[in-house]
Parts: sequence; structure tokens; C-alpha cells
Amino acid sequence: MRKLIAGNWKMNGLRADGLALSRALVARAAAGDPPDCGLAVCPPATLLIPVGDTLRGSGIALGAQDCHPEPKGAHTGDLSAAMLKDAGCTYVIVGHSERRAHHGESDAVVQAKAKAARAAGLVPILCVGETLAERDAGETLAVVKRQIDGCVPQGLRASQLVIAYEPVWAIGTGRTPTAPQVAEVHAKLRKLLKERVKDGADVPVLYGGSVKPANVLELLSVANVDGALVGGASLDAADFWAIAQACP
Ligand code: PEP
Repeated sequence: MRKLIAGNWKMNGLRADGLALSRALVARAAAGDPPDCGLAVCPPATLLIPVGDTLRGSGIALGAQDCHPEPKGAHTGDLSAAMLKDAGCTYVIVGHSERRAHHGESDAVVQAKAKAARAAGLVPILCVGETLAERDAGETLAVVKRQIDGCVPQGLRASQLVIAYEPVWAIGTGRTPTAPQVAEVHAKLRKLLKERVKDGADVPVLYGGSVKPANVLELLSVANVDGALVGGASLDAADFWAIAQACP
């Protein structure tokens, strides 16, 4: 399947930064020799509209970093999936470990967000992954099974879902799992998705956690790794582009 490289800008960038970064990506896309993969960026909510305007027609999709499970109502500070769709988004990240840890999001909440995304016509990029303590305790596969069982809504088709395996201990740390460790988890995820999703073999399963130009080739060559969710390195246009160009 065609790989997907998605950038998660997290809480970074004022308008000038977001415009400069998205313009730099658009210039690269227009310069010829585009990478052979899908591309998406997920800026902070304040930048969705200006960055979306910049990306229009470039082939680079827009994504948000979170949505509320409800379609509307008294939820001060939150954004519904329909609002994100209206702002031009194709994707929305749900269940990122930073939201699970800092906002206490349970698997049930993540599933509700994934359902809301689907209902609004967005594709959720649903994050799963173990903490270091869970890996050290030998619980990695059980953790991702619990998260897939608890977070993936029933009745989705492959085109309506992206999974990102992001070991919590690899996010922003410069540490990455070995290729065999990634292969083991992605094989498990593929098996679980085949059981749970129609055409589960075709659900893109991204790897995320300290992906850089220097390690992306090895990570993308692992079986069942269908792309990358990139945090820190997505804030640098040259690095993000180099990561995308590693796609076979
Ligand atoms: C992320 O937070 O989704 C992520 C992958 O971050 P980083 O690439 O910085 O580890």
C-alpha cells in the first residue's frame, strides 16, 4: 500500500511559523520529484485555516490533533470533528499518548472521538503504544491489544482508519525500538485489525516515535509499517521532506 507520512506539529508555532513551514513544504511539492507517499500535516488548531489555505492544491492533506466526542454543545475550549472538517481537515489524531497522559483520556473516550471523526467524514489517526514500564514488564502486545479492542469502533472500513503505533518511551526522546521490536508489534496490530475491521489488511499502520531522516529508511522497511507519524522532525521542512522521500 502507498505509505503515509504525517507530521504532528503539537503545540508549536505562531502564524508566521506555520505559514513559513507550510510554504516551504508546498514549494518542495511544486519543485518536481514529489515523494511517492501520502503526506499530511497536523498543525495546532489556530493554524488550521491559514495552513490549510497554503496547502490547497499541493496534495498535502491537513489534519487536526484532537477532537471532542460530541458534535456540538457546552464544551468550552473544545472543537468538534465537524468544525475540523469545515476547517479543511482530512485527518484528526485521536488517542495520542500526550492526551492520554495529560488529559486522562481513556480507551472509551478515544473510541468516542474516533466515532465522532468518522461521523464527520474525517479519518482518525488513532495512536496506541506502551510505556517503558509496560515494555519492561513484557506487556507490550497485551497493551496494544487492549487499546485496539477499546479504541477502534466497530463497522469501520480500511479507508476510514489509520493506526499509529507510538511507543510512549520513544516519543521525543531520540530512542527508537529495534526493527524486530517494531515488526513484532506491527504484526500483532495487523492481526488485530484483520479481526476487527473489514479489509483490515489495508488499514495503514504508521510507526511514530523519534522518526528522523537518519532512521526512517530502516523503520519503513519493516513489514507492516505503512508510514510514519513524525513529531519533532516535522517542524523542519527539510527533515520532513527527507523523511517523505525515503518512501519506497
Ligand atoms: C509524536 O508525538 O507523535 C511523535 C512521533 O513525536 P516525535 O517524532 O518527536 O518523537
